[in-house]
Amino acid sequence: MPAAGAAVAGVAVAGVPVACVELLPVMTVLEYGADMAPRLREQPDRSQRGFGPDLLEALAACVELINTGRPGAADGIRTVADVQSFGRRYAFHGRAAGAGDIARLRAHRDGLAAVVAACDRADEDAAIAMLNALLRKTGAVPQIVAHDGRGPHIHVSRPATPLADRMAAHFAMALAEMVVMGESGRLRSCASPSCQAVFVDLSRNRSRRFCDSRTCGNRLHVAAYRARRSAAGQGSARSA
Ligand SMILES: [Zn+2]
Ligand SMILES: [Zn+2]
Repeated sequence: MPAAGAAVAGVAVAGVPVACVELLPVMTVLEYGADMAPRLREQPDRSQRGFGPDLLEALAACVELINTGRPGAADGIRTVADVQSFGRRYAFHGRAAGAGDIARLRAHRDGLAAVVAACDRADEDAAIAMLNALLRKTGAVPQIVAHDGRGPHIHVSRPATPLADRMAAHFAMALAEMVVMGESGRLRSCASPSCQAVFVDLSRNRSRRFCDSRTCGNRLHVAAYRARRSAAGQGSARSA
């Protein structure tokens, strides 16, 4: 209906019968436009409201997996049971974990950590290249499924694919969504020099710096306070 487009765009159309104009779905289009406007205005706010529960869960799991292998802490993926229980916690069904999944998952974990590190330093090109490689390597095949009372949602792997690959593909897809949405800047490393953990900053103004403000953030504040006090103490000692 070319006349509809012309009428909506506000272009005067000579010779269009009045009855025809009345039948045009102009209101639908205007309502759509009116509805969209507030959301467009809100966009710079960049709050996490647009993130669905599936994405939030996948990001939480991804960060948790990466943090099982941070230097300085005991590796959280050492046995087949570790892989299996991680998978079970995040409702990965299908083929059970096998011995091969341990090394496989650790390697994928390194890959996911490298992607987050690239996002953290705002190197989006590197993050994209690594994500595409990870999705290829894990044999990602998107499909719609429904199970465990959950409505239709997307799985990126077949049930027969090794558990380590299914988990890594799922997490890579979550990171890919963040990149595509322009939200990769929310993937960060903890600002505490004594902490290697990564986290997803879901704060409204993207201001979070620590993986956990009660531990890392607080530890750093206490250290800074002690440093200021000791500097002040030295200053007064010199002046005395
Ligand atoms: Zn599912
Ligand atoms: Zn931390």
